[in-house]
Amino acid sequence: MIAENLSKILATIPRNVTLVAVSKTKPNSAILEAYKVGQRVFGENKVQDMAEKASALPKDIQWHMIGHLQTNKVKFIAPFVSLIHGVDSLKLLTEINKRAVQNKRIIDCLLQVYIAKEEAKFGLDHLEVKDLLGLSKAFSNIRIIGLMGMATNTKDETQVSEEFSNLKSLTDKLQVENKLLQTISMGMSGDYLLAIKEGSSMVRVGSAIFGDRN
Ligand SMILES: *Cc1c(COP(=O)(O)O)cnc(C)c1O
Repeated sequence: MIAENLSKILATIPRNVTLVAVSKTKPNSAILEAYKVGQRVFGENKVQDMAEKASALPKDIQWHMIGHLQTNKVKFIAPFVSLIHGVDSLKLLTEINKRAVQNKRIIDCLLQVYIAKEEAKFGLDHLEVKDLLGLSKAFSNIRIIGLMGMATNTKDETQVSEEFSNLKSLTDKLQVENKLLQTISMGMSGDYLLAIKEGSSMVRVGSAIFGDRN
């Protein structure tokens, strides 16, 4: 089923859109099924799960941290993480940079922007994004390569499209001064096609590939 789901999704998304297969809560066997189809980018939201899976699975997998990352856990993923999606504070950036230096790596990050109308616990407003982008220039071992957002969990497609469109406009605006900002991570199982229509370059799809999480 996983191979079939994945192939169907890959056939519907443009080549320039990166598919992050969100494998959180799923076993290594499920990840390997997707790997065999050619999938190499996987997303996890828990540090310990990601570290365990990374050590057990093929080394050419690119691991994306998509969940909220606590400062005291950065050290566990710094040696191998490929992209951190949800950066939303200077404190976290500071720690990621410190651990990147220790590991002699450059770590790519996305800033998480608050785009939903509903109450959300995480994410920056537009002004905070601008501020943090400015401050991030002081960090030698971090590259902020784009923005990430989550739309409101609603069936109202007009609203969801509007929220995605806001993130795209913000990225375009900031790109004028910051050419590195090329990635827009938006869209999940329920709304990735809408997100792509609004300019997403990276979709994070879990249940549509691996089935429902228990
Ligand atoms: C779980 C999760 C996803 C994937 O959700 P699905 O609806 O299963 O596709 C995407 N992004 C984040 C941040 C998540 O935590």
